[in-house]
Amino acid sequence: MPPKPHLLTDLRIRAAYAEGAGIYRIVPQAVVLPRDARELGGVLRWAADTGTPLVPRGSGSGMPGGNLGRGVIVDCSTAFGGVQIDAARSVARAGASATWAQVTDTARPYGLRLPPDPSSGAFATSGGMVMTNAAGPRSVRYGSVRRWVEAIEIVGVDGEIRRVARGAGSGERFALSAEQRQLVDAKFPKTRKNSSGYALDEYARSGDELDLLIGSEGTLVCVTGVEWRLEPIPPDQAGVALGFGDLAALGEAVPYLVALNPSAVELLDRTLLSFVEDAGGPVPPGLACLLLVEFERESAAAARGAVGDAVRGLRHLTAHVETAVDRAGLERLWAVRRLASPALARLPETQRSLQVVEDGCVPLERLGDYIATLRAAAARHSIPVAIFGHAGDGHMHVNALPDTTRPGWTEGLRDLYDDVTALLLELGGTPSGEHGDGRLRAGLLQRFFGPELVAQFAALKRRYDPRSILNPGVILPAADWQPLADLKVGAAVAPIPDDIALRLRDVERSGGWAVPKPELAR
Ligand SMILES: Cc1cc2nc3c(=O)[nH]c(=O)nc-3n(C[C@H](O)[C@H](O)[C@H](O)COP(=O)(O)OP(=O)(O)OC[C@H]3O[C@@H](n4cnc5c(N)ncnc54)[C@H](O)[C@@H]3O)c2cc1C
Repeated sequence: MPPKPHLLTDLRIRAAYAEGAGIYRIVPQAVVLPRDARELGGVLRWAADTGTPLVPRGSGSGMPGGNLGRGVIVDCSTAFGGVQIDAARSVARAGASATWAQVTDTARPYGLRLPPDPSSGAFATSGGMVMTNAAGPRSVRYGSVRRWVEAIEIVGVDGEIRRVARGAGSGERFALSAEQRQLVDAKFPKTRKNSSGYALDEYARSGDELDLLIGSEGTLVCVTGVEWRLEPIPPDQAGVALGFGDLAALGEAVPYLVALNPSAVELLDRTLLSFVEDAGGPVPPGLACLLLVEFERESAAAARGAVGDAVRGLRHLTAHVETAVDRAGLERLWAVRRLASPALARLPETQRSLQVVEDGCVPLERLGDYIATLRAAAARHSIPVAIFGHAGDGHMHVNALPDTTRPGWTEGLRDLYDDVTALLLELGGTPSGEHGDGRLRAGLLQRFFGPELVAQFAALKRRYDPRSILNPGVILPAADWQPLADLKVGAAVAPIPDDIALRLRDVERSGGWAVPKPELAR
């Protein structure tokens, strides 16, 4: 039997790993910090032998609870650092612990960049981004990270260290029959983005094992390194803010803008604009929503030309237009969005921001319906919401902001979760555009993908992890799945030392996810 790894079981350490960025607090049984891939292999073999559940983890900034659990947390956020650039091949070799910002900063002097740009880039690790198939504002043009992964280095539950590369084929672990491919075709969401379920659709297209592993949320393998494909930084940018008095305008405006090949089409709903206003931001009156649009082009003239096309083409719909023809102007436009976060962070302790329906994505032409119906559901259940996100992909983030002193707030949250799930099903959407399923959405997959495909998801899981030691309850639900149990707020919250609870709250408010978690326990 492989030797027992060095497990940290002190309550203070375990408490420091009890929360991620989403809604949950779950105190793990232990934490392990493997120092290299070989040691990680030993941890995996020991867990497979003893049937011990493991939770692989990066910075813990993932929203739906894939980064926490009652088993042993495997912290991969520090040991696998380092970024090397191969400029001739436009590739960055990054350790799984290297953040998007570290990859980007190292690539910049070579005139290169990693195009998908998660807003959490300062702290999201390469391992975490690959395992959630992360995306960002620029994904409307450049897709999610899947397109930019050349290869990953992985450790399996048998302790084997392997490299899995783009174009290297299936690895012959898992195959889809012609009938199953048809089912995949019929059942997978027809949205521009999807991080829900295992990516059998991408696998059916490419035949690459890599596509099975990207987005698998630490349920199949552990990642120790990523080879990122980079591209030259485009020379010029220009942008425009377009305000609309009516959400119905989005049905025409967003597809029109997407056809102009923008590098971002971000939406701020009036629910979010009210926070910008509270923070002293300049918000024109009477807007239902604001779109921030950016174009990257080979020349300043081409970028400005695209802005002109956007403004002229939508003149009959817009209530407000502000253009930005240089970097300083663009900074001013984007500052509006940035103002909302501190305003949200300043909410009173009794009004918590909870991500329970935070990642829905719908076909572009249904975006206006999605936002309007979601707003109505939130009002019906007395849960204030802040809505914003990646309009160009039909993908909206929603922060639910319940008053936790109001009797019935948990039921209201549950009703909102149920209503938004039904709405996404009706609109042909997916419950996750970029964050993944985690524990929060695992039990919904039967409804979105149907029992036959969920059986295929389970078969895939068995091929990689027959004893289900890697992140049980994530993507495939636990038998007693309850999406809104184990909340980090409310009467039933798991007890942890007060000072650590305060530090975790501070991490959440300040976006301090890059802080190594053992430091929180000191
Ligand atoms: C303020 C804020 C903004 C955000 N903005 C975005 C955004 O724009 N786009 C976006 O896509 N997401 C966003 N997120 C969510 C989050 O940052 C991403 O999901 C990110 O990719 C998670 O990286 P992480 O290192 O924190 O991983 P974690 O949260 O620690 O883990 C996420 C998942 O990956 C698995 N995992 C992590 N590392 C490994 C590994 N080495 N091996 C195997 N499995 C592993 C975990 O088990 C878990 O299931 C945001 C979060 C916050 C708090």
